[in-house]
Amino acid sequence: MKDLRADILIIGGGLSGLTLAAVLGEAGAEVIVADREKPVTQLGETYDGRTTAISYASHQVMKAAGVWELIETDCEPILDIRVADGNAPLFLHFATDADANGAPFGWIIENNILRRRLFENLKRFDNVTHLAPVEIAEFFNETGHSGIVLKDGRTCAAPLLIGADGRASAARKWLGIGVAEWSYKQSAIVCNVAHEHDHENVAVEHFLPQGPFAILPMTRSAAGEYRSSVVWTVEESQAAKLLKLPAEKFDAGLQKLFGEHLGRVRHVSKPMGYPLRLLHANNYTGPRAVLMAEAAHVIHPIAGQGLNLSMRDIAVLAEIIVDRLKLGLDPGVPAALETYAAWRRTDTLLMAGFTDVLNRLFSNNLKSVAVIRGLGIGIVDKIPPLKGFFARQAMGLGGKSPRIIRNGRL
Ligand SMILES: Cc1cc2nc3c(=O)[nH]c(=O)nc-3n(C[C@H](O)[C@H](O)[C@H](O)COP(=O)(O)OP(=O)(O)OC[C@H]3O[C@@H](n4cnc5c(N)ncnc54)[C@H](O)[C@@H]3O)c2cc1C
Repeated sequence: MKDLRADILIIGGGLSGLTLAAVLGEAGAEVIVADREKPVTQLGETYDGRTTAISYASHQVMKAAGVWELIETDCEPILDIRVADGNAPLFLHFATDADANGAPFGWIIENNILRRRLFENLKRFDNVTHLAPVEIAEFFNETGHSGIVLKDGRTCAAPLLIGADGRASAARKWLGIGVAEWSYKQSAIVCNVAHEHDHENVAVEHFLPQGPFAILPMTRSAAGEYRSSVVWTVEESQAAKLLKLPAEKFDAGLQKLFGEHLGRVRHVSKPMGYPLRLLHANNYTGPRAVLMAEAAHVIHPIAGQGLNLSMRDIAVLAEIIVDRLKLGLDPGVPAALETYAAWRRTDTLLMAGFTDVLNRLFSNNLKSVAVIRGLGIGIVDKIPPLKGFFARQAMGLGGKSPRIIRNGRL
């Protein structure tokens, strides 16, 4: 059996690892991406029931990966965002014409479709090797490269190993990098819903005492039905009960939360529960290794920003790697890895902190806190520069932008 060598070795071929492999592949780098799951399992109906709100910045990264044109028709633009404190009439309202010069705030796509297109996209590259499923026996670092020994006896090595293997990252454990983490004691129940009336590209988020309830506009179904996806946050202990409800009772619960504006609603995909936690790696780098995406950070989905944060990791990492490879320089030297870590740390910590505070502020019933958040919403809604700031953050345009985000290519 052949041992494999490349410029870059990516551990984990989830949404983030596959996107990075394609961005680097487009730039001509030799890449190996290794995942422990079979692609057919990863495309199964119950593997990932979520949708993703793709920000403008992430759409630029997907363009650079060559995958945007493959998913464009499956993406529904968000043109209007309404945020409500429970069912109170106080609304924070972002309209694209007033707050984003007519550009969509983002697009909603099913994770399952995105993953399928990412798999298809990788097949275009002779310079990208996708190993899945493979089992890693051990990691190693030697002079000039880091790598893995597979259970089948092969080794894969590269001057730079990238851990993109999710929240329980084996790469992170190998590097001995600790984490700060806590549970939100909440679960997000997700499903897709068909409804009678057009959503008119409006995304709605109700902050309820148990946690946020979001309705996100989707493309119509093949049968022409209007659809939205739902993120319904509940106390962790309640999630199992809700998931066991008979379909009509579950839909009755949904209908109560939707109200009447979209007419009758019914779920059209299997509801799935996701326990919510925050996790942040104490360090993003090790010898000839870096962590990215959920291997480095997991945040509350209250603002739909987890994968968007990872797409910004990809934009920065790809720029640093490709600039070095083009000059014949080693991509795995400590200075290059530190540049990545320093560039990404502030954005990540700000987003982790922002989503954490937002969740604490809104997911409770305390009267004193209700007054503060009412004031906050009122102030943001009335001051155009503040609204512009939040709109730009939601589009992934805060902070120093790497080339891919500015231009849609490296
Ligand atoms: C309810 C909910 C809603 C969300 N909504 C949004 C949203 O609207 N917008 C947004 O931007 N983000 C959102 N997110 C976040 C987003 O879904 C995640 O950030 C994203 O799916 C994580 O992708 P990843 O590639 O980092 O990790 P994963 O999907 O966990 O991928 C890791 C990969 O590594 C592989 N792997 C693991 N261990 C090993 C190993 N030892 N060896 C080899 N391979 C391994 C796994 O098989 C997997 O394929 C949401 C999250 C939740 C919970």
